[in-house]
Amino acid sequence: MPSFIKAGDIIQSKIDICSLYDEEISELILKLDEPKFRANQVIKWIRSGINSFEDMKNVPLSLRQKLSEKCYIAGVTVAKKLVSKIDGTVKYLYKLFDGEYIESVLMKYEHGYTVCVSTQVGCRMGCKFCASGLNGLTRSLTASEILAQIIFAGKDNGVRVSNVVMMGMGEPLDNFDNCVRFLKLVGDQNGLGIGYRHISLSTSGVVSGIYKLSELNLPITLSISLHAPTDEIRNKTMPVNKKWNIDTLLTACKDYQKVTTRRISFEYALIEGVNDSPECAKILAQKLKGIMCHVNLIPANPVAENSFKKPDISKIRDFRDMLTKLGVNATIRRTLGSDINASCGQLRKREGVL
Ligand code: SAH
Ligand code: SF4
Repeated sequence: MPSFIKAGDIIQSKIDICSLYDEEISELILKLDEPKFRANQVIKWIRSGINSFEDMKNVPLSLRQKLSEKCYIAGVTVAKKLVSKIDGTVKYLYKLFDGEYIESVLMKYEHGYTVCVSTQVGCRMGCKFCASGLNGLTRSLTASEILAQIIFAGKDNGVRVSNVVMMGMGEPLDNFDNCVRFLKLVGDQNGLGIGYRHISLSTSGVVSGIYKLSELNLPITLSISLHAPTDEIRNKTMPVNKKWNIDTLLTACKDYQKVTTRRISFEYALIEGVNDSPECAKILAQKLKGIMCHVNLIPANPVAENSFKKPDISKIRDFRDMLTKLGVNATIRRTLGSDINASCGQLRKREGVL
C-alpha cells in the first residue's frame, strides 16, 4: 500500500471512481463502450454516496459488472458514533477500506449543519498540543474519502450539510492534490453542491501550500493555526515553525490576501502560562497589522498525553478585550462536543481511545 494515495490511483489494481471528476467518469464510460447517457446515470449514483455498484438501480447489470471489475468505491463505514449530551454534536469514528480509522464531526449551528472533515490518517506536523499527530502520519486520504465523511453524516442524520471545515485530523496542505480535488468535487451539483464560500481550510502554516493555493484563487476561507505571537513560543509548540517562521508565514498570508482579497482567520488556542499573557496579545496585534483578518480564540482542549491547560475564562476574555482594543477582530470560539472528545485537536486515528 503506498503511503500517499492519489485520486484516480489504481489501488488493488482498481480505480477510485468517486475521486474522479464528471468528465473523467464520462471518459471511463466511453472507454467501456457504453453510450454517453449512461455516464450521467453513473455520475448521479457516485455523487449520492452509494457503497456498492449494485445500488445503481437504473444501470444495467453488465455495466455494473464492468465497473466493479475496473473500479472501487472508497466509502466509509461507521465503527463508532457518539452524540454529545450537551449540544448534539455527533462524532464518527470511520473505518476506511484498508482498515485505517479516521474521525469526523457533525455540528449544528444557527446557520445550518457543518461537518469537520479529516484529511489524513494521523498527521506528521507534530504540534505538541494536538491529539491528531501523536502517532505521526499513516497516509493521506483520497478526495473520495474526504467527501464520503460529509455524505455519510448528512444521510445518517437526514440533514443537508451546508458548511465544511477542513479542521479534523491531518494537515490539508500536506495532502494538497487530494484536497484540491475534494474542493472541486464538493460543489458538484449532482452531489453535495456546497460552494467554496461555505468551506474553510485550516493549515498549521505550510507556506509552500499557501502559495500553491493562492494560484488557484478559490473563494474559500483560509484559516491559519497560529497559536503563538513569537518564534520562541511557536518553535516550542509547533515544529512547522522551524521550517517557516512567523514572519515568513504572515508574509505568505499577505501575499495570499493580495490575490484572493479574502479575509483570513487566525486560530489561537490559549494555553495557560504558554501564550496567554497580555504581552502575547500585544505582540500578536502588532504582527497582524496590515492583514484583514479575524482571530478565533480557542480555549485549549484537554489531550490526555500532554499537560496543557486552558486559562481561566476571565483571562481568555482579557486576551480578547486586549486584541479588540488594539484593533484586531477577535472572538472566543464556543467549544462543541466537549463530552465526547470532539473538539479542536482531539480527533484521533485509533479505535479504542474514544
Ligand atoms: N492541521 C490543520 C487542520 C486541523 S484544524 C491545522 O492544524 O490547522 C484543528 C485546529 O485545532 C487547529 O487550529 C489546531 O491547531 C487546533 N488544535 C489542535 N489541538 C488543540 C487543542 N488541544 N486545543 C485547541 N485547539 C487545538
Ligand atoms: Fe496536525 Fe493540525 Fe494537529 Fe498540528 S494541529 S498535529 S497540523 S492536525
